[in-house]
Amino acid sequence: MVKLDKYIRDIPDFPKKGIIFKDITPLLQDSKVFKTAVNTMTKVLEGKKVDVILGIESRGFIFGSALAYKLNCGFVPVRKPGKLPYKTYKAEYSLEYGKDILEVHRDAVRQDADVLIVDDLLATGGTAKAVVNLAKKLRAKIQGVLFLIELSFLNGRKKLKGIPVYSLIKY
Ligand code: AMP
Repeated sequence: MVKLDKYIRDIPDFPKKGIIFKDITPLLQDSKVFKTAVNTMTKVLEGKKVDVILGIESRGFIFGSALAYKLNCGFVPVRKPGKLPYKTYKAEYSLEYGKDILEVHRDAVRQDADVLIVDDLLATGGTAKAVVNLAKKLRAKIQGVLFLIELSFLNGRKKLKGIPVYSLIKY
């Protein structure tokens, strides 16, 4: 069995001092390891009904779209401001390093659709919480939030109370 955490590289002081950036590129560039990560995500989700994956820009697109292909469901990009061409809903959030806005197309998901939110990493939970708010504006049913990595010591789960949170690698 591939040990996924061996393929996550720590980059100290990126993108700013004091942050230890979890670099997932070693995992992505190895076909066997990338495949194992996506297959393990599928296993974690066994028995869940998912109509659409909401992938968070930008690394959430990588896992979200691979997973959507595997689960035979749709993929919706949740993007940084000004990138989506049609009418959007917006949500502001605080990051481990700064503030930002995320947007989703207003017609991205039908009402009551079962959605899964996907990103590479859970840190403080601000980003995922913003997407939860977007999913609520879309009137979707949130089946869960899935991450490759969880920085447990930042307690991001606390911000996502009442929503199932899945992660493959915990620090
Ligand atoms: P947060 O909103 O604090 O949970 O931050 C999560 C988002 O920021 C995700 O989209 C991550 O890709 C990115 N992020 C935050 N902290 C890190 C980190 N230490 N290493 C890599 N990415 C991070």
